Amino acid sequence: MRESTQSHPDTLGVHAGREDFAELGVHAPPLDLSTTYPVRDLDVGTASFDALVGGEAKAANPIYARLHNPTVARFEDALATLEGTSDAVAFGSGMAAMSACLLAAGQRGKHVLGVRPLYGTSDHLMNSGLLGIKTHWVEPGEIAAAINDDTALVVIETPANPTLDLIDIAAVVKAARGVPVLVDSTFATPVLQQPAALGATLVLHSATKFIGGHGDVIAGVVACNAEWASALRQVRAATGGLLHPLGAYLLHRGLQTLGLRVRQAQANAQYVAERLVKHPAVAKVCYPGLGTVANAHLVGTQMRGPGSLLAFEMHGGHAAAAAVMSAVRLATPAVSLGSVDTLIQHPAGLTHRVVDAETQRRHGITPGLLRLSVGIEHADDIWADLEQALDAARQAEAA
Ligand SMILES: *Cc1c(COP(=O)(O)O)cnc(C)c1O
Repeated sequence: MRESTQSHPDTLGVHAGREDFAELGVHAPPLDLSTTYPVRDLDVGTASFDALVGGEAKAANPIYARLHNPTVARFEDALATLEGTSDAVAFGSGMAAMSACLLAAGQRGKHVLGVRPLYGTSDHLMNSGLLGIKTHWVEPGEIAAAINDDTALVVIETPANPTLDLIDIAAVVKAARGVPVLVDSTFATPVLQQPAALGATLVLHSATKFIGGHGDVIAGVVACNAEWASALRQVRAATGGLLHPLGAYLLHRGLQTLGLRVRQAQANAQYVAERLVKHPAVAKVCYPGLGTVANAHLVGTQMRGPGSLLAFEMHGGHAAAAAVMSAVRLATPAVSLGSVDTLIQHPAGLTHRVVDAETQRRHGITPGLLRLSVGIEHADDIWADLEQALDAARQAEAA
């Protein structure tokens, strides 16, 4: 157990995973790029190899970087502290993390329950049968009835991508009746919600997004208990979906400003959302901070705030959405999210293309929908840019 759990999350973000710095006489984490480690004592080496391949977090000798890396382990410790779990296991991408969870779950059963909408590629992966599991798609209210003896995992994402609908995590855990629940908490970050405290077994982040926060690392991480962490490390050692130590170093640094970034972006998102709803080019705005998403009442309880992602529907459909993408100047028209800079993208045309058309339609992924990841620039500048782009789209439509 971590002795520092009493501190405020902001303090933990700055200090977690750095507890031994005084002893080491350093002020920044050592970055260990070794791929292999000398084995002078073969007995120690053999015992270490067995321990790491068997899923232990560390051993006397790291042996080989696919089995253990101290820089990655530091980031994992810090993230686990922020999520309030005993362990965390990092991967080379959010999808590598998701794959490892499905592979580890697949050893318990081949039946997985999924609640849509999910991140497009998560939906695609779970629907493809690629990993030997079969996904049964349900609404949250259907989970209890859909569980059978072969059900290994329940997968949810809240806030969901791209609609920002919220799901009651505690209610899903109750309905799952002991079947582990995976929560993709990428949009919330540990600053805004801690699913493990609500009973979730696996808390997944695409660390590419808010945790990295600067658009320069692809990574994934799963916070969980020791038993699942062991299973995930075994999968990682066998399949090799590793996080590079330089990525871990940057993510660990990202945690130090996570609270500041998330709160600033969130304040900006609220400001922008309140202006977007009044703009004549906009048909609707989906944002938990406006109460315009499913289960918005969970803001303030399950979630500490509404976050900084929002989606909005253009009156002019696909053409108008495309015109906004072309007209923004400060914001970057690009997929991804959670960066310090504002990003805007078109789910139907980009991130959710891998989701079948009927599912897109049912979850409001329409041709006129844009998703905005609000950054930490000054709110007036973000809005001025968006407003001129919306005006340009209206003029193009009128012409
Ligand atoms: C980006 C994302 C993923 C996938 O993560 P990668 O790091 O791109 O592999 C999974 N879930 C959500 C919610 C995401 O936004």
